[in-house]
Amino acid sequence: MKKNLVVVGYGGMGGGFHAKKALTSDVVNLLGIYDIDEKKNELARANGIYAYSSLDEVLADERVDIVTVAVPNDSHKEIVIRALEAGKSVICEKPVAMSLAELDEMIAAANKSGNIFSVHQNRRFDVDYLAIKKIVGDGKIGKPLRIESRIHGSRGIPSDWRGEKEHGGGMILDWGVHLIDQLLQIFNEPIKSIYCTVTNITNKEVDDGFYLTITFASGAEAFIEVGTYNFIPLPRFYMKAEKGSAIITDWRECAKVVKCKYWHESEVIPVETAAGLTKTMAPRDAVTVEEWSEERPQSDVHDYYRNFCAAMDGKETQMVTHPEMRTVMRVMELAFASAQAGEPVPYTE
Ligand code: NAD
Repeated sequence: MKKNLVVVGYGGMGGGFHAKKALTSDVVNLLGIYDIDEKKNELARANGIYAYSSLDEVLADERVDIVTVAVPNDSHKEIVIRALEAGKSVICEKPVAMSLAELDEMIAAANKSGNIFSVHQNRRFDVDYLAIKKIVGDGKIGKPLRIESRIHGSRGIPSDWRGEKEHGGGMILDWGVHLIDQLLQIFNEPIKSIYCTVTNITNKEVDDGFYLTITFASGAEAFIEVGTYNFIPLPRFYMKAEKGSAIITDWRECAKVVKCKYWHESEVIPVETAAGLTKTMAPRDAVTVEEWSEERPQSDVHDYYRNFCAAMDGKETQMVTHPEMRTVMRVMELAFASAQAGEPVPYTE
């Protein structure tokens, strides 16, 4: 039987994604929405969706199984805890909280209530990320030594609450939270240190972009760059691995993989550059490498709610676990600390 869902916050994500997807879901039934802004409630009614008059009305409705929280980041904690205390299972939009301390309060409320609580890490369904994950998993080019994950836009950050610190604005919390989660899923090993620098080109109050290096215990590195003032984007993913390289130039493209078949080349023909010759940087002899393009993996974002409902029934483990949520939150906290200090910081729990 489908679980009954209410979406709190009928803005871009609550209205444009959660409520809309629920209408075609095979596991949840949209009972209604609630937004603090009456105009949004009117819009929902105009779209044929029941709009609750208050959060209290949502929480008092015994038919409600799941509350999805899709409001600005600084309001997540209070609504999540109230919903858990009212006996609901809760999906919270990312970033789940403003700090690890806040998240720990939310996890404590979930544990006390015995209800399922998770964060909507929907970008685990991005096919570009899944392609890189598959290449690593297949092991054909060995373990990754460094993966670079980039998102480049050129419009600055949205001119809403995302530009304001008190609401949890800035790109580390907005996009970083996804890209960190993705690479931690791929590396899955202890973190040694965090180094981050931020940009403030179009917004002085919060970061409008950042460069983040996560160094793992093995020495492998995850590098994440988010830019909102990049008129020429760099490739979405670049991976240097033990036996080759992989690249995804754009999220619409397939991954290209080059594997080193023979390390030694019989003859290297130097290339002539403007100021001299180089053998070191000359292209490899084609017979020494194998090159292919990876098929784009399939994904279905409905699997997020399918898993959440199965976790509520005790049939599956929730896809995004509390320890994973805590690690992503901690990495972001240390990214801010590193940017402030202007130097790398050791990773501590
Ligand atoms: P938005 O500004 O478009 O919408 C937020 C809505 O919440 C507004 O309609 C606002 O009136 C309402 N609201 C504010 N405070 C409220 C309260 N206390 N109770 C009820 N309603 C309240 O913002 P958005 O883009 O929809 O972002 C909402 C959340 O979703 C954020 O946490 C954001 O980071 C996240 N988000 C996630 C993704 C993703 O891909 N997972 C994408 C976009 C946004």
